[in-house]
Amino acid sequence: SSLREFVFNGQIPRVVFGAGSLQHLVREIDLLGAQRALILCTPGQRADAERVANIIGARCAGIFDGAVMHVPIETAREAREVAQQLNADCAIAIGGGSTTGLGKAIVLESSLPILAIPTTYAGSEMTPIYGITEAGLKKTGRDFRVLPKTVIYDPELTISLPKSLSVTSGINAIAHAAEGLYAQDANPIMSLFAEEGIRALAQGLPKVIANPADIDARSDCLYGAWLCGAVLGSVGMALHHKLCHTLGGSYNLPHAETHTIVLPHALAYNTSAAPDAMRRIAKALGTPDAAQGMYDLATLLGAPTALADIGMAVGELDRCADIATQNAYWNPRPIEKTAIRALLENAYYGKRPA
Ligand code: NAD
Repeated sequence: SSLREFVFNGQIPRVVFGAGSLQHLVREIDLLGAQRALILCTPGQRADAERVANIIGARCAGIFDGAVMHVPIETAREAREVAQQLNADCAIAIGGGSTTGLGKAIVLESSLPILAIPTTYAGSEMTPIYGITEAGLKKTGRDFRVLPKTVIYDPELTISLPKSLSVTSGINAIAHAAEGLYAQDANPIMSLFAEEGIRALAQGLPKVIANPADIDARSDCLYGAWLCGAVLGSVGMALHHKLCHTLGGSYNLPHAETHTIVLPHALAYNTSAAPDAMRRIAKALGTPDAAQGMYDLATLLGAPTALADIGMAVGELDRCADIATQNAYWNPRPIEKTAIRALLENAYYGKRPA
């Protein structure tokens, strides 16, 4: 294909990558010009936060272990107050998208620089996108201030990531890259990231399932997750992300599982409208067809493939199709309600794309 006009506006944080790279924490805090870090984590990852505290010693202002899913505004306020009381001048978010999200919510109303240490493949650390839940409603927005200043990717921290979350957050990452390849504002640089990110995850995930402690496979996956997250942060998303947002928001379905189930069907929907992107996705997956290849990868990895299995009710498919087609948004193939209803039904029953 010939090179068309494009805009590249990638704002990618400083990245320190490698097994054992946690040891560079003190250097990285110094480079931020900070002295006192508040460490953020979920209750379940308190041990990871304590490890960070041990490494940074006197630079630790304290640990806030109250991060939870969907960033409730109360939690964000509480963490912000704790940061103030402890005189913290930076925050270290160690964990998945929920913890990174808490860090982002804190920055929105303070100017604390964030150092992120991702331990899943969700990719939030590479994006200016934030979400905060107030009175049961999740509000999302884009603001470059919430982007972490530095990201440390240490694959050793992902050894403990359970197989199921490794798979679903890995496929969540692939979804960012897949939609980035057919984005309205796609550009050749981010398409390189996307294709390489999908390849790294598609090769790494089966090895992680075979042996979760395989540090080379863990490194491939975290590298892939980084690239895919950068794509999400840099170009626009389409049908797949819209559907997952609807399913997550209106039916409270789990984030990463929902992405995993919907992706093959969203790709099937867009197959004829985005042939070049599909060719690149298929090539990265090492399969002839992008949609079928994604379905087969999820099946091989033992991931859930049917919305019916994660709490969706069959009676909700009509309403879900309504909600998902209410507001206009860009997609390579126009959004047609009947076809979206059919897509949702295929995803509900977990059918392999034809
Ligand atoms: P998560 O952050 O909710 O983590 C799930 C659970 O796994 C948590 O209890 C966490 O402590 C635990 N965990 C994480 N890493 C672990 C490890 N290495 N070992 C053991 N346990 C570990 O899950 P997620 O999939 O990373 O993030 C999902 C959330 O992130 C969603 O709310 C989603 O909306 C958001 N997200 C945001 C963006 C963005 O750009 N803003 C991008 C992707 C996801």
